[in-house]
Amino acid sequence: MAGLTPRLKAQSSVPPWGEIQAPDHWRCVDFISDLHLQASEPVTFDAWRTYMQSTRADAMFILGDLFEVWVGDDIVAASADDLDPSVSFENQCAQVLQSAADRLDIFFMHGNRDFLLGPAFAGNCRMTLLEDPTRLDFGGHRWLLSHGDALCLADTDYMQFRAQVRSAQWQQDFLGKPLTERRTIALGLRQQSETRKRSGTVYADLDPQASCEWLQAAQAQTLIHGHTHKPGQHDLGNGQTRIVLSDWDTAAIPPRAEVVRLTRQPTHTVREAMVQRIPATQARL
Ligand code: MN
Repeated sequence: MAGLTPRLKAQSSVPPWGEIQAPDHWRCVDFISDLHLQASEPVTFDAWRTYMQSTRADAMFILGDLFEVWVGDDIVAASADDLDPSVSFENQCAQVLQSAADRLDIFFMHGNRDFLLGPAFAGNCRMTLLEDPTRLDFGGHRWLLSHGDALCLADTDYMQFRAQVRSAQWQQDFLGKPLTERRTIALGLRQQSETRKRSGTVYADLDPQASCEWLQAAQAQTLIHGHTHKPGQHDLGNGQTRIVLSDWDTAAIPPRAEVVRLTRQPTHTVREAMVQRIPATQARL
């Protein structure tokens, strides 16, 4: 039982959270995560591009793992002289984000795959980087947004790895290495992760007690997160709820490309925004 796993004090404490007050003109807010965009999966990229071009949302929150891997913002600057298709891929993604940012507000929270995405790339795409967690006040309700990996406390190996790679020192050392070396290291980590997945490892889910603590500390009612690739909605008790986003894989059968959408009706007398789970192909409606 994840909830009974002994935890270090540092893991059970609630990290400082960001706060966003939705402006009045937001009527419709989209949440996506875990697209794991990569050059080798063009069908998912195409679905994402179409969605970004067509969603009617006023704001979009990307809650981590938009990219399968991110080894530094210089990967985009390097592309002019570099014919490596994986490099030009990040540029294509930047263009999609830039054009969408003309129409709507875009926020980005780091996942465990793209935690090195930095202010240079975010600024270039006009995305606002978010703390994990961040509280969003929208539609008379407080939503706590997270990627989710920081709450998978039963996975102690991962929590140790996370503490290491999220430290300023590790990131400074890593980003100081040449691009080719960073790519090689990232590939090695990805292979380790694939091996673990194939070995039948059962991944930890979010710790229920810690999830409630986070919500309580931030005075929020609903946690929205990704990471686990187990879309659903869970009652945590005490009026607290956990909404889990789907990952995207449009080559899968059936294809997965889903958006969680909050809508506030101008004439709505009900306190809460409406929550919907919609296929990305219907996001324009
Ligand atoms: Mn993740």
